[in-house]
Amino acid sequence: MNGPLEGPGKDSGDTLGTAPQILTESNHKRWRRRAHNGHHESDFQAAFHAAQLPMAIVDRDGRVLTANRALGTLLGADPRRLTSRPLADLAGLGLDGRVRSAYNEALQGRTDRMSCTRRLKHADGHTLWAEITVTPTSRGGEALLSISDISERRDLQERLRHLQMHDPVTRLPNRTLFFERLAGALADSATGRTGLCYIDLDGFKAVNDTLGHRVGDSLLDAVAQRLSLCAGDPAGEECGGHLVARLGGDEFALLVESSTGTEQLTQLAQSVLAALQRPFDLAGQRLSVSASIGVVERETAGTSPTELMQAADTTLYWAKADGKARWTLFDPERNAHRMTRQALSSTLRRAVERGEFVLEYQPIVGFADDALRGVEALVRWRHPQFGTLSPDRFIGLAEENGAIVPLGRWVLEESCRQARRWMREHPGPPLYVSVNVAVRQVWDSDLVRDVADILEETGLPSGLLQLELTESAVMGSAGRPLQALQALSEMGVRIAIDDFGTGYSNLAYLSRLPVRALKLDGTFVRGFRTARHQNPADETIVTALVQLAHKLGLTVTAECVEGPAQAERLRRIGCDTGQGWHYAKPMEADRISELLAWSSHDVGSA
Ligand code: C2E
Ligand code: MG
Ligand code: MG
Repeated sequence: MNGPLEGPGKDSGDTLGTAPQILTESNHKRWRRRAHNGHHESDFQAAFHAAQLPMAIVDRDGRVLTANRALGTLLGADPRRLTSRPLADLAGLGLDGRVRSAYNEALQGRTDRMSCTRRLKHADGHTLWAEITVTPTSRGGEALLSISDISERRDLQERLRHLQMHDPVTRLPNRTLFFERLAGALADSATGRTGLCYIDLDGFKAVNDTLGHRVGDSLLDAVAQRLSLCAGDPAGEECGGHLVARLGGDEFALLVESSTGTEQLTQLAQSVLAALQRPFDLAGQRLSVSASIGVVERETAGTSPTELMQAADTTLYWAKADGKARWTLFDPERNAHRMTRQALSSTLRRAVERGEFVLEYQPIVGFADDALRGVEALVRWRHPQFGTLSPDRFIGLAEENGAIVPLGRWVLEESCRQARRWMREHPGPPLYVSVNVAVRQVWDSDLVRDVADILEETGLPSGLLQLELTESAVMGSAGRPLQALQALSEMGVRIAIDDFGTGYSNLAYLSRLPVRALKLDGTFVRGFRTARHQNPADETIVTALVQLAHKLGLTVTAECVEGPAQAERLRRIGCDTGQGWHYAKPMEADRISELLAWSSHDVGSA
């Protein structure tokens, strides 16, 4: 037998002879002396050298005092040649930072034990995964160091990880791996710019539903292969190309970790669309699909994965909304609009308190004599930041979050006060004011009480107030809303149905409710905009509608009257009043006062 396996016997002289350092010699002698201290010591020695587990006894500085044969085999070196050198260097442990200091602590005997996992280099060049454990021995100044080869366990772990990180259908990286890579790319701000194509197949659900999941799965797999080709990644793995991942369902992502700019991303998106355009031949089926792609490209520094994904999600939604089968590039302005929705929603209530709203009034004119009969109050938001906002921008939000209740109350009060002022300042038949009321105002506030209070406060006769509700607010109303409508009607307030014709209400049913007027939606009137482009069907419908409404005791106002030809036809059909740009756009209260002054002057001088 050779080497230190025989223990510190006759060969140790050779070992010492080859040892270059005096210090080593004395170390080894010390070890030998101790080793001779009794039987159990030599038992220990034998066990140490025969053990399967690669081990070494090291000194305080981590220098090898003796190493067993298993360690020699593990590192591909003669165990005797390992002595006297720091094991960390021999095995290329590459310990650094916290691990290095924990290692030193254990060597010094200041901790009970330390262990870490490291990649080691065998003398023949191959690497292996090893778990290194350091335990101080009962003899001071020495520690037992063992290194177990855990390469197989690591392999298994890695294969498991691969399974966990990949999608079984397409073998592409899955959502988990994608987010890991995305987070990595964004954390490394040296990367510069990062880009993402967020891809969703159009109409994939139909394939699944009509042809079954197996065809669906093979389609996904075929799509994955084409995407991988686009990404310069034929193996479906990331080998130099961009990462292609399946995020779930029919959603894929293409991650460009160091993008050169939006151009690169849009070209990539274009190539994806082109690649998917060729039909797929799957088990005798010829299938065509298209995809919608949201494209986002940003400076890496200061971008979070959540932010980037949210932007990609929004952009994909735009691509779908714009008609599918296309790519859409993230547009900060379009996004700002989306963001302002949130900002507006959260500041609505305070804006009511701060008096940021104003009313405009649009004339409602009698068809018979072109005389001004009433006005519709239309609210606007004088926003300190965004300028004047039209109701379409905020009424929906106010309904969603309930701010419509205080806002609606203010509108009612302000328009009643104004109508009363006109009545006082201008002789002749008084104007009525028509106020829009949201469903939620009927449900969530004491509308009857508010109206009664406001009429009393302002002194406006109830007959000069009209409330406009939509069909959906009135249809099927029972209980509280119906009682409210009845109470208002009994008070003398007129109830009108706004945008009539856009819903599905039944006229006969409506007439049984306390409704007195219909406002025909603009879409009806649009049908006969000019004399030449008239749609006879529309005219027939509107004529029948107006006749029926009159039989049921309802008056009819036509909305969106934009030209003289329309006005003429509506007058012939028998509509009572009209409203629209043909007569006047919504205007400030003072301009209505001027109109009133002018018409009374006109009447006077006639
Ligand atoms: P609406 O009640 O149907 O009001 C008519 C809308 O049509 C107004 O838009 C008006 O400016 C517009 N319009 C008037 N004439 C014409 C025309 O000839 N051609 C066209 N194309 N449009 C015309 P606005 O002021 O933007 O109001 C939009 C909607 O906002 C209103 O539709 C109403 O539903 C709602 N709204 C306005 N003010 C209030 C309010 O104080 N409370 C509630 N709950 N809703 C309001
Ligand atoms: Mg209206
Ligand atoms: Mg309307």
